[in-house]
Amino acid sequence: MEWFDKFRKKAYELHKKGKISMVSTGPNHSAYKEKEDAKIHVRYICPHCGHKDELYEDLGFPYKVKCSQCRKIVWKTKIQKKRGRKKKE
Ligand SMILES: [Zn+2]
Repeated sequence: MEWFDKFRKKAYELHKKGKISMVSTGPNHSAYKEKEDAKIHVRYICPHCGHKDELYEDLGFPYKVKCSQCRKIVWKTKIQKKRGRKKKE
């Protein structure tokens, strides 16, 4: 989708310039955070109602984005569990 592609391209260009500290893309969202900026840029297409929106907010980690129309979760950071790995090392 062009609307998404443009956003991802912009994120990629900023990334090449070393201006980005976080990038996340998925089937329903695309997000990035510039260095020295507390806010993150997010574009999403709600998988529940199809609503499209753009955010520029200070979300804080772990990131969680809700659809502004139906209030359902569009994107949530998956926190990796590190349990069980220590024993092997
Ligand atoms: Zn929705």
